[in-house]
Amino acid sequence: MIRFEEVSKSYDMSRLAVDSVSLEIKRGEFLVLVGPSGCGKTTTLKMINRLIPLTKGTIWLDGKRISDYPIHELRWQIGYVLQQIALFPHMTIEENIAVVPELVGLKKKDIRARVTELLEMAGLDPDVYRKRKPHELSGGQQQRVGVVRALAADPDILLMDEPFSALDPISRLKLQEDLLDLQNRIQKTIVFVTHDLQEAFKLGDRVCIMNEGKIEQIATPQEILTKPASPFVREFTASAAARTFSIADHIEEIPADLSLSFAIPIDSEWGPLLQFLASEDQVAIKQDGQVIGMVTRKGILHFLAEQSLKGGTSNE
Ligand code: ADP
Ligand code: MG
Repeated sequence: MIRFEEVSKSYDMSRLAVDSVSLEIKRGEFLVLVGPSGCGKTTTLKMINRLIPLTKGTIWLDGKRISDYPIHELRWQIGYVLQQIALFPHMTIEENIAVVPELVGLKKKDIRARVTELLEMAGLDPDVYRKRKPHELSGGQQQRVGVVRALAADPDILLMDEPFSALDPISRLKLQEDLLDLQNRIQKTIVFVTHDLQEAFKLGDRVCIMNEGKIEQIATPQEILTKPASPFVREFTASAAARTFSIADHIEEIPADLSLSFAIPIDSEWGPLLQFLASEDQVAIKQDGQVIGMVTRKGILHFLAEQSLKGGTSNE
């Protein structure tokens, strides 16, 4: 659906903010771009809806160059959600959401119905919130409005640039879960930017790890974790996880019908554990020479996802 072919961007002609990026995003896929600050995530995202022109290469949307689309058509097809939702402060929530439907010429009655539908989608009671002003909503609620406003024209694609990173951890976790629910129902193609690896692992069907304008690896969370494609990826995932990790917190009972051929000590570090889980679905854990249980790959992935509750990787 979206295809990058050798795409580069330079703002100042001296260095590349995005360097020869090639990737393909399938219809209905949830792709997360993740990497350290300044690695080119936002630039990559904004080139898709032509908020930023490319320096080199081609981006294709449904087999057509994005540069061949009339700009308005492109923008209607692509919803865009920012970190700090720019809701118009003097307009009601209904008016804020209605901006796009009005621009595309929907009738008043249809707009009202669409706003009702979108507020319900956001989990906000339309009767309560329709007439409120943005400042009468919490940060999390405003961000929900921002998400559904981006869906107002029913675009095929949703671009989201760190949409939850300004929220407190609890709201953030809730919005992540609601976004996954929403995605299950509406099956949009989502390209989501975050600097938080746990958030990336939780949300992404595939995760694209970027560094200095280049793609280091694009793969499922499981593959990234177990088969890091480069030393950078290994380091990036390990440093994110190692910070709060202790095997003891993740030990599960070994089912009676399972026999495990390897056991590692309970005080093993993250690196050796991952080495095992790269080839095995689970590994036994021993303490004082006795096997006391096992750690599973699934359990570890789950742990990584859950860490976003604790505020993510980079703000700790
Ligand atoms: P990220 O979103 O991963 O933090 P960006 O895509 O915003 O990274 O930035 C990538 C690189 O391009 C950084 O080095 C940044 O300083 C530079 N950059 C971003 N926007 C501009 C701009 N408008 N003018 C000049 N340089 C920019
Ligand atoms: Mg950015």
